[in-house]
Amino acid sequence: MNPEDICPRPDFLPTQPTQPMSPAIYPAAVYRCESPDQADQLLARTMEGYVYSREGHPNSDQLAEKCRHLHQAEQAAVVSSGMAALSVAVMAHVKAGDRVVASRHLYGKSLVLLQGELARWGAETVVVDTCNLDEVAQALTPNTRLLVAETISNPVLRVADIAQLSALAHGVGAQLLIDNSFAGPTVCRPLELGADLVMESLTKIMNGHSDVLLGLLCGRTSAWSRVAQAVTTWGFACSPFDCWLAARGLGTLALRADKAGQNAQRVAEFLAERDDVTEVHYPGLPGNPDHQLAARQFQGGCGSMVTFTLPHGRAAATRFIEAAMQIPFSPSLGDLSTTLSHPESTSHRGMTPEQRAALGISGGTIRLSVGVESAEAIRQALKTGLDACRATDRIK
Ligand code: PLP
Repeated sequence: MNPEDICPRPDFLPTQPTQPMSPAIYPAAVYRCESPDQADQLLARTMEGYVYSREGHPNSDQLAEKCRHLHQAEQAAVVSSGMAALSVAVMAHVKAGDRVVASRHLYGKSLVLLQGELARWGAETVVVDTCNLDEVAQALTPNTRLLVAETISNPVLRVADIAQLSALAHGVGAQLLIDNSFAGPTVCRPLELGADLVMESLTKIMNGHSDVLLGLLCGRTSAWSRVAQAVTTWGFACSPFDCWLAARGLGTLALRADKAGQNAQRVAEFLAERDDVTEVHYPGLPGNPDHQLAARQFQGGCGSMVTFTLPHGRAAATRFIEAAMQIPFSPSLGDLSTTLSHPESTSHRGMTPEQRAALGISGGTIRLSVGVESAEAIRQALKTGLDACRATDRIK
């Protein structure tokens, strides 16, 4: 009985007749194969199962399957972040000499990837206003491989007309990739509207607890031929523990998204009534330019993001953030509680003031990610912040 031999020996769980109600976490990086033939078949994917976790593991497959159902997709893959999901889509579809047409409203890092990184690979990205379909049509050329837009854009929450964008992309043989991170599948399922690929930053409302970083790519089989190869070869694999947490978070997605969406509608209505707020962006407001489109395209409310502008620039935003103590300034979204972000100093800080102004962002722009607290608690916190700004204005 030598401890040196007992300790390093791999042990296996006892087989048992009952199923645990919570799925197991499989941290294994590698699996024991029965024979070279079996390893060969597993690695060739002619047999279901696992050999090496960069190639796939039970927790990412479990999560991917749930997400595939939610998006009514033919294929799904979970990767290490939302940016990894975009990278996979690009690597699977774009090569030197190709063109990508992207919305100028995309998340800042997505534009850095498409405009900066892709240029180094010899592919060009042309940025357009995807709310202007003529501009999109003009930019699409026969060498365009991807048209990329967000369902609801950051931070001014413009809604993409997915069916129209899909028709335009398909007209030149390109694929439509929609980033659905600001909506989630309970609000919008872009594949049903004609998109070929949809990505989600699972970090956001899908997981919903700000404790994992993960991404999802779903799509049609016709857009999938190089995706699995890109995930495993470029090394976009994700942690089993993060997948387990995100699968648990997804269990309450429908409840959370429903409550947060209802709260967001009430928050937007409250802000729209205030004379100390200059602009309120929310597609659920009747006066919003995308209200009709959102009503046609969305199936469960208009999402949980609300953006508004304070009249006196960054000083007013700073005062508001100090006073609205109950709403943490944390530059992400989709958490259980209401949080806020300040685009000028975070997501859009790399832009010039002119570029930000063209996107409707000023120093006074505040982006809310509305949570699942009572609507009254959120309203009170906002009122405290707005009243503090008003009091400061009076002193001046
Ligand atoms: N897409 C959008 C719309 C985002 O807001 C973000 C992150 O904020 C991403 C993609 C990137 O996701 P991740 O941070 O999970 O890489």
